[in-house]
Amino acid sequence: MRLCRFDDDRLGLVEGEFLRDVTAVLADLPARTWSRPPGDPVMARLDELRPRIAALAGTAPRLSLADVALAAPVATPSKIIGAPVNFRDHLEEARFDRALHQDRAVHPIDEIGCFLKANSALAGPNSTVPLPPVGGRVDHEGEVAVVIGRPGRGIAVADAMAHVAGYTLALDMTVRGPQDRSLRKSCDGFAVIGPWLVTADALAEPAAIAFTLAVNGQPRQHGRLTHLIRSVPELIAMVSAFYTLHPGDVIMTGTPAGVGPVAPDDRITVVSELLGSLCVTVAAARERAA
Ligand code: MN
Repeated sequence: MRLCRFDDDRLGLVEGEFLRDVTAVLADLPARTWSRPPGDPVMARLDELRPRIAALAGTAPRLSLADVALAAPVATPSKIIGAPVNFRDHLEEARFDRALHQDRAVHPIDEIGCFLKANSALAGPNSTVPLPPVGGRVDHEGEVAVVIGRPGRGIAVADAMAHVAGYTLALDMTVRGPQDRSLRKSCDGFAVIGPWLVTADALAEPAAIAFTLAVNGQPRQHGRLTHLIRSVPELIAMVSAFYTLHPGDVIMTGTPAGVGPVAPDDRITVVSELLGSLCVTVAAARERAA
């Protein structure tokens, strides 16, 4: 099942170049309250919603994907988690290239674990990536994101896949500079996910996912999840040892070699046979410092 969020918080079931507007299944979502539970309420109920979406799809309004505005397929993650160096070819380029390592030691993921990107950086397909008014270049990092469905902490590797709601493409946009990682990777618009969620029931083996990132049509990165240093279940076990994973939490699984700077007006595209196509445009100019 390919599920998208579109227009004003509507839910769509993607079918080829079209979608079925199945927003009606969300009619009984609990009203938002001050102390609502952390996480994304749609991802929290996905197991229950999927059969209802399937039942409704045949009679739901059919729209052309070209006529709607897709949004990030997760609306309110409690956290966006990044895997710093999780492809061996990127580990090698990061150790070799001073623009990447910034005179800091580059440690494998087993030693340093993961990092967080601010939730306010969340953005969706066709967004414009701002260029913040800070020194240093801004790089693309094409990735695959895992979205959590079932909450948990201290999750064992053997149980991890039962906690996955699905998968989507991601851009972990990054300022290269001396700042802390959590700052450099958290600018507005720097956590792009989309175009839609491919639910885990439709994609049993995430290692099969491959993707290519291109800038203005020129291929820059190729990744295949079989080449992750820490696999999807291992990442889930690793981070859930530190913090509870809530429905809708996003884990960006790491970028392969080929990261590089983007320029104003660049068009960045991440394409995957299994996950679709995620495109963004870089802002026309660097923002001015206040
Ligand atoms: Mn990354």
